Amino acid sequence: MMTERQRRFREEYQAQISPWYNGLVHIGVMYGVGLTAIAWCVSRMQDATWEWLLVIPVFAFSNWFEWWIHKYVMHRLVDVFALRAIYDRHTRQHHQYFTNNEMTVDSTREFRIIFFPWRALTTFMAFGVPFALALGWAINPNAGYILMVTIVGQYLIYETFHYCCHVHENWFVRNMPFVNTIRRHHTAHHNQGLMMERNMNLTFPIADWFMRTSDLDRGLLGHIFNGYSEEHLKPEVRASVERFREREPHQVA
Ligand SMILES: [Zn+2]
Ligand SMILES: [Zn+2]
Repeated sequence: MMTERQRRFREEYQAQISPWYNGLVHIGVMYGVGLTAIAWCVSRMQDATWEWLLVIPVFAFSNWFEWWIHKYVMHRLVDVFALRAIYDRHTRQHHQYFTNNEMTVDSTREFRIIFFPWRALTTFMAFGVPFALALGWAINPNAGYILMVTIVGQYLIYETFHYCCHVHENWFVRNMPFVNTIRRHHTAHHNQGLMMERNMNLTFPIADWFMRTSDLDRGLLGHIFNGYSEEHLKPEVRASVERFREREPHQVA
């Protein structure tokens, strides 16, 4: 089910994608660069052992950072060139292209509206490098490489999970642990009544649980393994979703 407004937005958006754009090249380069960076870091390590424990704090920080950037950059209008562009691309475009009424794509050209542009991965890597160098200096080089592996790995998980949120329903996304959880979580986020404040994680809803921005009322493990269940929806969320549904103008099939 798509509203007329959403259908028109999709038509206009698709019409302005460059004829040179190729969705498979877009994600091929992204995964290629990301996986190569990971492989290179791993190949440079020497007998890393306990240093792998660093994955835990870096993963936790990345999870919170993903929450923060989604809530405070992608959904907040700040009139500074790059920040404004990110807001436009996400709140104005991504969230009009996909609503909880229609979340899916049919073609690889539409990868343009799901995956970040190449510069996102480059920017995250560039942010990571000074910290990796600092760890390399303060602890040892293995620690620095493990930091980079975790950051890039987390980015690729983000893109992969977000893509899984916007494909047609299938056996894999319905049954795969973590993927089914984030798919429901993110579909709820795409409800325009909830998008500015709820369900900001796109990988594992840990920061949403911790910061109390989730639409669910349950513990951490319940959050992570929730799957498609709507049993634990907060009552106020249920009400706001219903209210928003009523406001939707004439739906077309
Ligand atoms: Zn989305
Ligand atoms: Zn959003």
